[in-house]
Amino acid sequence: MDEKNDRFNKLKQIKDEIVNLTTSSLYAYRTKNNYHPVIGEGSHFAKIMFIGEAPGLKEAETAKPFCGASGRILDELLTSIQLKRDEVYVSNVVKDRPPDNRDPLPQEIELYSSFLFRQINIIKPKVIATLGRFSMVYIMNTFGLFDKLQSISKIHGQVFDTTAEYGTVKIIPLYHPAVALYSFSMKKTLLEDFKVLKQFI
Ligand code: URA
Repeated sequence: MDEKNDRFNKLKQIKDEIVNLTTSSLYAYRTKNNYHPVIGEGSHFAKIMFIGEAPGLKEAETAKPFCGASGRILDELLTSIQLKRDEVYVSNVVKDRPPDNRDPLPQEIELYSSFLFRQINIIKPKVIATLGRFSMVYIMNTFGLFDKLQSISKIHGQVFDTTAEYGTVKIIPLYHPAVALYSFSMKKTLLEDFKVLKQFI
């Protein structure tokens, strides 16, 4: 089987498992509201993988990551460095919408992050850009960078070299795009931080 089909099939397997994840505390909430899990979207060969926190309402209604207000900011940020959505892969740590957009619980992060870890090892990105505090903490801890972990206000836009199962990878913590919705100075910070990604395109 060629690599393209192999990746497609493995990612499809992850999707099927999440769709049927009855052990999740968010499963009943998903089905009661006719929501969808949001698995991830983009190139299966992306050099850069963006990882957000968890789907919001729009995302749960459409199954697409970052398709609401935060997604519009993410699109602007990608455009600012001439990147298209279909050249990158966008996913979240938690794949189901938490009620009322509350923060994901530690047990939800633990349950869903195993799927994210598998997605990363299939797509094998050179760069993982985390969007927001939750994905920064999970990714930096998972990829052996716990000693470099500080508050996001200190390390946003910095590049951390580490090793994944498939080879070297750079971790770049970024603010969550939602911070730019109400603050122009945060938007400027995000635009500056995105310039760091340009060298890895
Ligand atoms: N916020 C996130 O963290 N992820 C999404 O997919 C949408 C909003």
